[in-house]
Amino acid sequence: MKKKFIPVNEPIFNGNEIKYLKNCISTKWIGSDGKYVTDFEKKLSKYTKKKYAVAVSSGTAALDIAFASIQIKKGDEVILPSFTIVSCMNQIIRSGATPVFVDCNFDTWNVDISEIEKKITNKTKAILAVHIYGLAVDMPNLLKLGRKYKLKIIEDTSEVLGLEINKKKCGSFGDISTLSFYTNKHITTGEGGMILTDNLQIAERCKKLRNLFFDNKRRFYHEEIGWNYRMSNLNAAVGVAQFENLNKTITLKRSIGNYYYKNLKNINEIQLQPIKNNCSENIFWVFGVLLKKKSKININKLRKLLLKKGIQTRPFFWPLHKQPSLKKNLKLKYSLPNTEYLSNNGFYLPSGLSLRKSDVDYICSEFKKILFKLCK
Ligand SMILES: *Cc1c(COP(=O)(O)O)cnc(C)c1O
Repeated sequence: MKKKFIPVNEPIFNGNEIKYLKNCISTKWIGSDGKYVTDFEKKLSKYTKKKYAVAVSSGTAALDIAFASIQIKKGDEVILPSFTIVSCMNQIIRSGATPVFVDCNFDTWNVDISEIEKKITNKTKAILAVHIYGLAVDMPNLLKLGRKYKLKIIEDTSEVLGLEINKKKCGSFGDISTLSFYTNKHITTGEGGMILTDNLQIAERCKKLRNLFFDNKRRFYHEEIGWNYRMSNLNAAVGVAQFENLNKTITLKRSIGNYYYKNLKNINEIQLQPIKNNCSENIFWVFGVLLKKKSKININKLRKLLLKKGIQTRPFFWPLHKQPSLKKNLKLKYSLPNTEYLSNNGFYLPSGLSLRKSDVDYICSEFKKILFKLCK
């Protein structure tokens, strides 16, 4: 018998992916000038009700361009969570600006607006909000804060495409919002990302930044340093097909998450991200588990035993304020206890779209058995 293995994530392609890819090949439009790129941009701009969408080669590229588009520079400060992926701080550091880290809330794992406000100084230029795992940052109140202090709000929506606050899509709140289409995201293009904005000047700058800052009139003439962060028509073809199934994907993600939640919510040793917070209903991009403070369980042992049962897991983010890559560039001293606790004591269980109800039953039952064994 084949040994059981449940990967932490696996994309599914049960729409028009192959048909659209074939079209790219047969028409020879595989580069970034193909029709699927603009079609994909239009679909997401319509979905989020943003005027402009700029497709790029990754979610990291989208963040790099977002910061470069508002000309973050040396001497500026940008406020962002420490509990997120490293892509969020790279361009801040590259540009010579200073990242200012905020701790996350212990229960929701997202940042609190009040914590952000405490960190605003006269050097602050922008705030990066990142919706974590399945719940939203309180964007309406963050926007109020942004207006009060005249700060740009960047919204990283990579993990929660489809999530809503007051019936309004996440990804529509930021002055600039970003998306990732990495393999484990709600829409995948293999690799890919997008920038969303209502501001024409920003959109135009983003388009130039993704394309080496080519001049619109003089070919091979470059006013600024850009990147080649273009998305290919092949990636976009997959994206358009995936977009057609987005609503189904979200329903499935939510049903997997809710089923896990029902199964695991009453276990003493662990804490889960809540089913909702003050502004959103968990979309369960991943299903995170956090060991409680009073728990004596060793997380590495626990994850090893799960893997032995064929259940793959992933640890939570490592804090940005503790990254060696940061320390090589800046001397900053931080203590962010919630972020540090989460990083050391959290991991997530499989939640790919091919997961069946029987898989979740198996995972939960093995997980409970292992917890019971480790508690004794
Ligand atoms: C996945 C992710 C990214 C990075 O996206 P890539 O496409 O892998 O570069 C950025 N921000 C967040 C919050 C993410 O989850």
